[in-house]
Amino acid sequence: MAKRVSTRKIKKHRLYGYDEAGGALGVTPHTVRDWRASGLEVMAATTPHYILGAELIRYIEDKQAKRSVKMALDQMYCLKCKAPRKPLWGMVDYIPTNDARGRLMGLCEACEGGLQRFVGKGDLGRFGQIYEITNKGVS
Ligand SMILES: [Zn+2]
Repeated sequence: MAKRVSTRKIKKHRLYGYDEAGGALGVTPHTVRDWRASGLEVMAATTPHYILGAELIRYIEDKQAKRSVKMALDQMYCLKCKAPRKPLWGMVDYIPTNDARGRLMGLCEACEGGLQRFVGKGDLGRFGQIYEITNKGVS
């Protein structure tokens, strides 16, 4: 992302196609499609594909946060502090978004706001050595 993308025009509860998302963000639909490769969660089960507004915002904020601040393995992004933080008591929940990926969620040790970090299911072992992970929705 060369320029800073603003999420002001994105509505959290709306579903966006690639064209609409690009239009609202001021980027090309092709760019939005490319973001899938770097972690944007797209509802690919339906045709055409849709992206939830909240996910677009999450993805862009995450990306911008990563660009300015490098996150250590034991840090997660705090939406309130807008900075990488460690989870309170090292405890996080794993919430699967699909079979391969999910998000770790915890409480910020600084502000007790929500922390999150997108991880692949395959990374859970690695993160499990740092955090106490409560599996959710996984039997
Ligand atoms: Zn915080």
